Amino acid sequence: MAGRPAHHGPDGRFRIPWPLEVPDGRDGAGVLRWQWERLWRTLPPNPAPDRLPPAAPEIVHPRAPAGELRVTWIGHASFLVQVGGANLLLDPHFGARASPLSWLGPRRFVPPGVELAALPPIDAVLLSHDHYDHLDTGSVRRLDARFGAGVRWVAPLGHAAWFARAGIVGAVDLDWWNAVELPSPGGPVRVTCAPAQHWTRRGLRETNGRLWGSFAVHAGGRTLYFGGDSGYFGGYEEIGRRLGPFDAVLMPIGAYEPRWFMAPAHMNPEEAVRAYREMGGTGVFIPMHWGTFRLTDEEPLEPPVRVRSAWAGAGLPPERLRVLRHGETVVVAPPAAG
Ligand code: ZN
Ligand code: ZN
Repeated sequence: MAGRPAHHGPDGRFRIPWPLEVPDGRDGAGVLRWQWERLWRTLPPNPAPDRLPPAAPEIVHPRAPAGELRVTWIGHASFLVQVGGANLLLDPHFGARASPLSWLGPRRFVPPGVELAALPPIDAVLLSHDHYDHLDTGSVRRLDARFGAGVRWVAPLGHAAWFARAGIVGAVDLDWWNAVELPSPGGPVRVTCAPAQHWTRRGLRETNGRLWGSFAVHAGGRTLYFGGDSGYFGGYEEIGRRLGPFDAVLMPIGAYEPRWFMAPAHMNPEEAVRAYREMGGTGVFIPMHWGTFRLTDEEPLEPPVRVRSAWAGAGLPPERLRVLRHGETVVVAPPAAG
């Protein structure tokens, strides 16, 4: 079919449309090799909760002023973003495990930094992809029960059908570079889906039947980029050029070891800093996707150490790197002129 985007495969599944620097070992023997090698090494232990002390959130109830950009880290890839007078949730996960099962699978190191019951009224939820550490069915049901039709759900292509089966009608699913304008009490919120280098699968469903993505948010004159889950790829300059400059950049920095297996799907801290610079290097950088669930083999508290050293090594302004504690809020100042 003429005009089919390169990330839409001929079989109806989605695919990474550019060459990978590290070949994808997920299908075939890669998973077995990873699990086999894991048997012979001792993984660093999970951190004790006192290594991850929470902060008191500074959420404005019910809504922050339209010109304000206020970002609160709930944990992992979950954020409350108060922007343009609207309240947005990103990849909301309030469950005990990143798993389809209540008794098995990665268990959280610390409770969510904000309890679901403490949230202000939510206008929209942006969901990057269907993996269990990002899309948590229990959290979706509880949010739907509490906020109902007041919430707009936005995700990459293929997820609207998942939401419909969960009883949520009218979810919007977007292809890369497509946008939706959501009404909110403070004015319109523009959400654009952008590329990421990742994959999808949930349960026994076929791999990559749904698209994955990142998001840019424009509201009240403020801008934010949410990287979702991604390996490093060469597309960040284009994202910055087409959707930036950003006041805040939320990037994944964890779940990267072993590199031979994880690099296609998860960037490491150095790559996250590189992506930020290639997007234009504007605004505050807020690392995520660490310190909450053990998904891979690195020492769970290593990502923020490495991101600080990569940041300093690149000569970037120290005040623009904001490594948040669970529950911590950053009020993002408008970028200085010039
Ligand atoms: Zn994922
Ligand atoms: Zn993830």
